[in-house]
This record gives sequence, C-alpha cells and structure tokens, in this order.
Amino acid sequence: MDLAINQTHGMVCAHHHLYSSLARGMPGPATPPLSFSNILETVWWKLDQALDLETIFWSAKLGALEALETGTTCIIDHHESPNAIEGSLSVIADACSEVGVRVNTCYGVTDRHPASNFPPNSMTEGARRGLEENRRFLSGGGNGMVGLHASFTCSDETLENATSLAREFSVGIHTHVAEGKVDMAAPSRLSRLSEDNWILAHGVHLEDDHGIRGTIIHNPRSNMNNSVGYAAPKRFVNPVGLGTDGIGADMFDEFRLGYARLRENDIAESPLTVWKMLEVNKSLYPDCLQDVVTWSYPNVNPWHLAFTPGVKPRDIVIAGKQVMKDGIVMTVDADEVRSKAAEVATKLFKRIDDLP
Ligand SMILES: [Zn+2]
Repeated sequence: MDLAINQTHGMVCAHHHLYSSLARGMPGPATPPLSFSNILETVWWKLDQALDLETIFWSAKLGALEALETGTTCIIDHHESPNAIEGSLSVIADACSEVGVRVNTCYGVTDRHPASNFPPNSMTEGARRGLEENRRFLSGGGNGMVGLHASFTCSDETLENATSLAREFSVGIHTHVAEGKVDMAAPSRLSRLSEDNWILAHGVHLEDDHGIRGTIIHNPRSNMNNSVGYAAPKRFVNPVGLGTDGIGADMFDEFRLGYARLRENDIAESPLTVWKMLEVNKSLYPDCLQDVVTWSYPNVNPWHLAFTPGVKPRDIVIAGKQVMKDGIVMTVDADEVRSKAAEVATKLFKRIDDLP
C-alpha cells in the first residue's frame, strides 16, 4: 500500500511490559536503590508480586490505549505476575483486543520464586507454572512467544524446557539478556540454545561477538533510567530493534532519545541508524504493514523527527478499521479507561505497601 509523506505503517514496540503501566506513582523503596539488582528487587519484583488478574487487565488496557495514542499498533509484550500466572496472557490479549491494538505476549518464566541463589540448580514450581501458561496460551491459538525472565534467574533445566516448548510451537524465546552485570554469563548459558527467531532485550553487557542468535532490542530510556550503561548496539552482528521496556510505547520518542544517546557517543552518527531499528521492528511484527498512521507533522522523515518532539497520530487504521479519527480513539472511551486504571492502581499500591 502506498503511503503519503505524512503517513507510516503502524509503529511496533519490540519490547514492552504492559503490566508496568500502573507503576507510575507506586510506593518507592524505603531507601534509594544503589544498583540495578537493588532496583529489580525493591521495585519491579514487588510490583509483579502484587498483580492480580484485574490489575493486569487494566494495566494492559491503559498501556494499549497509550500505545495507540502514539501511533503504535503492534506491541511485543513480556509479562510476569508470579501470584496470578494462570490465564494472565489471555487477560492481556483481551485488554489489547478491546482497544484494537495488536499484541504478541509471553510469560517470562523464572526460578526466582522462591529461589534466591542465582542461577538456581533446578526448575522450580513457579517456572513450571510459567511454562504451562505459555503452553496454554499458545495452544489456544494465542499470538505469542515463550518468555524467559533472564538466564541469571533460571536454572539450565528451565532454559532447556523453555527452548523445547518454543520449538514445539515454532515460535522464538523472548528474554532479557545482559541488561546488568548480574547477567554477564548469559552467552555461555544461551548461545547453544538460541535461534534466529529469539528476541533479546538489552544486551548492554554482551561482548561484540557474544554468539547468541536472535534480534537484540535496544531500550535506551530504560537503560539510562537503570544506570546499567550504554549498549552501543551498532557493534552487534545481530539485527537490532527498538523497545521501551515498559516506559510507554511512543516509538518516535524512543527513536529521538536513542538518536541523542547514540550521537552523544559518536559525533559522526546519524538518525538513520536508529530509524533502521524501527524497520527491524516491522520485520518482527509484519502485521503492522496492514496498518496506516497519519501523523500531525507534514513530513515523517527521520531527519525531521529526530529534532521534532510531540508528533502525534491524527488518524489510525488497523487492518482496514479506523480506530482513531482526528486524534480521538474510537474503540474505547479513553477517559473511562484512565479513570478505572487509576482506581485499580490505588488498590495495587496498597498491596505493594503490604508486601514484606
Ligand atoms: Zn524488559
């Protein structure tokens, strides 16, 4: 289909966590975290424990709405909710379907419940239930992958079982890789298992020739926020896509930031390097080619967009159906979704406060 100069296909967020949409404003840790592991333990691993199916639904619905409002029609989601595993992926798929956004989701299997020595020696009950949720969702025709949290919280047995499950359904594994130094052993654990259809989020601490197959997803804002370092993604032979790691799904915004971070590192660089990552995203979710976004800015060219904040979609058509007209989402009442999400978030924050 031919696109006008102010149009693109649907944008793709190649690494998202829809479960984190309600996290803004959540109770912070008692003392400021001083390392990436600290941030995981005191923020994210508290949030995911407090999720139930109702919170997951409204978090996903708000995340899907916010994606649509920024022209993102396809989300590759990575989910974890250790106290509400069964059925969670269907809840996410349903929430996205009501908004009209496409989603590919997976359950991030891990042995960290209850294991605390990393990597654990053998597969835990939590990992078995996570694998089962991936199986249940995929065997019911759900659009997804098999998720792993990260190799450092998984036993070898769990990594192997997840890989077998992914092969059984002819899908890839979606996992975090070497986001922090805590996961430096990822190449020795994953290389021999990996395949080209894997999604590898981050790769900050990978060697240039790490040997893991798959597409690396660069998440510049998240990496800066967690102070984990710069992935310098151009150095990899793998294809590289762009994600948000759960901080919204505004891909033009992430593109602008990714370019600024790249350019900070190398004055000879150009916006085209990060724009190519958005092209890689399309290959990960080719359905986006059936979607058309008409933008508020007259020329959606990388050299313009790298220096133009606030470009928003005006009209969006997904698979032939108009889901946004003149900037207004037509599928759901956006105010209602925001208000219900805020109500559920209050309950979620109370549960987080009550966690040991
Ligand atoms: Zn992530």
